Amino acid sequence: MSSDGPHATAPGGVRRPLIGIDLGGTKVQGVLVDHGTVVGDAKVATPMGGVADVVAAVVECVGRLGGAGSVDGVGIGAAGVIDAATGTLLQAPNLAGFDRPVPLAALLGDALELPSSTPLVVDNDVNAAVVGEHRLGAARGFDNVLGVWVGTGVGGGIVLDGRLRRGPAGGAGEIGHVGVVVDGGRQCRCGLFGHLESYAGRASMEAEARRRHDAGTPTLLVEMAGRKRMKSSVFAKALEAGDEVALDLLDEAVQALGMALAAAATLVDLEVVVVGGGVPGKLGSRFVGRVEQAVRTRLFVRPSPLRVVPATLGDLAGALGAALLAAPAGGVVAPQ
Ligand SMILES: [Zn+2]
Repeated sequence: MSSDGPHATAPGGVRRPLIGIDLGGTKVQGVLVDHGTVVGDAKVATPMGGVADVVAAVVECVGRLGGAGSVDGVGIGAAGVIDAATGTLLQAPNLAGFDRPVPLAALLGDALELPSSTPLVVDNDVNAAVVGEHRLGAARGFDNVLGVWVGTGVGGGIVLDGRLRRGPAGGAGEIGHVGVVVDGGRQCRCGLFGHLESYAGRASMEAEARRRHDAGTPTLLVEMAGRKRMKSSVFAKALEAGDEVALDLLDEAVQALGMALAAAATLVDLEVVVVGGGVPGKLGSRFVGRVEQAVRTRLFVRPSPLRVVPATLGDLAGALGAALLAAPAGGVVAPQ
């Protein structure tokens, strides 16, 4: 275990709770965390009106949890590219008005009227979820952890020697955008080709299913989803029915995850990989078991103690992890 766990505190200080916020494209999910336990939660729909409205929604969520004046820190995990040192959202395509850099920590510090002594941390949402799983969830007790979140896209975060690794450009752990194809491959949502996300992300799997359907290979995936979004539950049903396209796309996703995760594990010597997000959430532990097999067959050091396990904190992992990042002894404190 790392020494800077959720209970580390200033000498002589009585520890008060922490607030964690998971700021996503559809909802602002907040939790109140006391000594590593969620003691309250609140949810507000993410407004579409722009930066000021999003800031107001976060303030409302914090207010419902008792306000910033009664806690030891506020942590925000946001979907996007973040400069954690300054708490600036550089890019957040899922948030209206965040198509340019937004100094979220500074705006929230003012709006929440935070005392200058109270840490306010802004980090990537998957980084926050991985910190949650590392300190309190599936990777508790391990110091070298990769978290991979398989949903619409594929996100990741990495803990090395007990500490979240951000890297000099803030992009450490972005396993979704490593290559898994030698020559070409499908185009990724980031614009480059052959990345893990373009084989294991739900949006890319949907695009490929529709392409095959349009090219003359009928699939239940398109028949069930129609023109609507092809949810993870649609994939689960089509797989259960033995749909050939669904089976083939899932095989590709599993093998792509096997390649990328084995490469990561070989490079930095991991103890555990935690798999979270909507896709494994719907497909269950069998999916994670298949990914573990696909990783094991590709490891350089064998036999390896590496384990691939499902995330255990569910939908609150991001908010809980964000709260832990705001603990006075952990995380990067944004300037006030
Ligand atoms: Zn990419």
